[in-house]
Amino acid sequence: MPNRTEPIQDIAHLGSVELLTPKPDRSRWYFENVLGMEAVYSRAESVYLRGYGDYATATVKLTAARQAGVGAIAWRTVSTEALARRADAIKRTGLGLGWSDGDFGRGPSYRFRDPDGHPMEIYYEEQRYRAPDHLRSTLKNLPQKYTGRGVNVRRIDHLALFAKDVAANREFAQQLLGFQLREQVLFDNGRTELGSWLSPSPVHHQVAYVKDTSGGSGRLHHFSLWVDSREEVLRAADLLAENGIFIEAGPSKHNNSQGFYLYSYEPGGNRIEVYSGSYLVFAPDWEPVTWNEEERGTGVYWGGALPESFINYGTPDVPTPLPVTEKTPVFDPY
Ligand code: FE
Repeated sequence: MPNRTEPIQDIAHLGSVELLTPKPDRSRWYFENVLGMEAVYSRAESVYLRGYGDYATATVKLTAARQAGVGAIAWRTVSTEALARRADAIKRTGLGLGWSDGDFGRGPSYRFRDPDGHPMEIYYEEQRYRAPDHLRSTLKNLPQKYTGRGVNVRRIDHLALFAKDVAANREFAQQLLGFQLREQVLFDNGRTELGSWLSPSPVHHQVAYVKDTSGGSGRLHHFSLWVDSREEVLRAADLLAENGIFIEAGPSKHNNSQGFYLYSYEPGGNRIEVYSGSYLVFAPDWEPVTWNEEERGTGVYWGGALPESFINYGTPDVPTPLPVTEKTPVFDPY
């Protein structure tokens, strides 16, 4: 029997993602009218949205900012006790930022940054969504009416973050948050970690860390929303094209994760994926799948090759590598 330490199972799932946008009105139009999400609340520079299948009141927060990028990435814990345990553990790393009263619809949250500087928070108390009359579903177990507007994404799924040091961030997610490592891309006979896919739930991955060679930090590669079928991904491509949205890649199938993907840039510049396929993982003793250069190729199982921009472009955009003495400006959502 392998010698395993007791797994940490304190984090339930990805709760919400804040996206920063220099074009807030156009970004809202993209998420509301093209992707078909529902805006539920707005205050100051932010609007809160949800997919029709999300049980929480809000799962996407759009915030007006000078540059595109990712703001607070929020993870829900399994209990109040789990929240306290994780907060204590993170505090001991020196990456903790402290407690807040919580964002819209939430109880107290503990804020921190991952080693690459992405702002994150954990919380437990969550307001359950109560649909207003015009959005009430006739199906009792559906939190909100299936509106059929635009792409009509069901729920948030995952995000991919750039990191200078993939291993350091992967270890943080495993050791401090208890995420299970699902797949990895290792080059140079295992010496260079180019990407790691992790999750706290049966969803294949809820966060991926991919190598950032730009000199920037705290950058977003993409944020992904789920639809139930590959047919809906194809339909999304028609809708994006009809609305003048730039499609960077897909619809095609990845080898790692088996995801059926479609990448576009929302008007603020963030890369957004409409996603289906993939697979669930139930094994508590899952053995991470590793891919070397030859096996990985470009990450495409079939379909067109991914363009160069897919490797380098992220938000905020860093057109040329910065000198090491200069720091990329990082938006502070707190
Ligand atoms: Fe993805």
